[in-house]
Amino acid sequence: MADTSLHIVFAEQYAPSAVERMRGVGRITQLERCDEATLKEAVRDCDALLIRTYAKVTAGALAGARRLKVIGRGGVGLENIDLEAARAAGVAVVYTPAAGTEAVADLTVGLMIGLIRGIRGADEAVRGGRFLEARSAAPRQELGELTLGVIGMGRIGRAVARRCRHGFGMTVLYNDLVAPGWLDFAATPVSKDELYASADIVSLHVPLTDLTRGMISGEVLDRFRPGAMLINTARGAVVDGCALAERLRGGRISGAGLDVFDPEPITADHPLMSAPNTIFTPHVGARTVRALAAMNEVAEDVVRVLQGREPTHRA
Ligand code: NAD
Repeated sequence: MADTSLHIVFAEQYAPSAVERMRGVGRITQLERCDEATLKEAVRDCDALLIRTYAKVTAGALAGARRLKVIGRGGVGLENIDLEAARAAGVAVVYTPAAGTEAVADLTVGLMIGLIRGIRGADEAVRGGRFLEARSAAPRQELGELTLGVIGMGRIGRAVARRCRHGFGMTVLYNDLVAPGWLDFAATPVSKDELYASADIVSLHVPLTDLTRGMISGEVLDRFRPGAMLINTARGAVVDGCALAERLRGGRISGAGLDVFDPEPITADHPLMSAPNTIFTPHVGARTVRALAAMNEVAEDVVRVLQGREPTHRA
């Protein structure tokens, strides 16, 4: 039996099963929009808030939250929540750190193969009646000949590196702020500079933090091995998109596979939109049936906190 004095706000879309789960616990409100003003107003009078990628829970919003006990973030990447302010306000933050790991790793490898084999251009050529012309273009490389550089050897970085080493025989270099411990595949830790200079494909798997915002600047891209490729399935703001577009145009960087942008959606006039050798996906790295189902599990942790129990994944 739901306790109607408990008010639960969904600021972004969740599966009907997660909404039903919460309806069994309290009174539900589904917001139509999750801009800052709407969110601020909504958290004033709720016990639990469920968000995903785009709702920003700022210190300002939390200051007005009189009875908020828990924020549930279906997914990973907590840069949209002011964690310090939440801690100070005694609001628990729960999330699903591993829900999208395998899905994002799959897409990352897909972007790599798409780029090195020129799948996007080949598709356009076939549809445009240039089949034979495209077939006689310069032959491409294989993943197994290339060196992968993983920045951020956490859950997703490891899942990507494992696929690339075990599945394709790539040489794997990586850089992380902390040693990842034992790895079940061969990979060499190196400095960022060494990685930039040696990798044929640099793949980003860091969270968005003060340290990583703008980390891949124009100056850093100029330290990449000439003709290297960049994959970003982490967060758009880790890369200076305008600087990347410029290097793609000049051929300094030979390709980019991007699932994430800054801003999202990317605007039609953004220089990346007309840059050559790119493959874009609309931040769908973790949007598989299995990953989304696992993200909906955050509802269980929200319930645990509301019932005074310890959640499984507290940030
Ligand atoms: P994780 O915490 O397991 O791994 C992140 C790793 O990055 C950690 O090992 C950390 O030490 C390292 N790191 C942090 N700052 C660094 C720096 N400056 N230099 C080098 N290493 C650094 O996180 P994860 O589950 O692997 O997810 C990584 C990121 O992927 C998330 O934070 C999120 O932004 C992004 N993500 C994107 C999608 C998508 O749909 N495209 C889905 C899920 C996650």
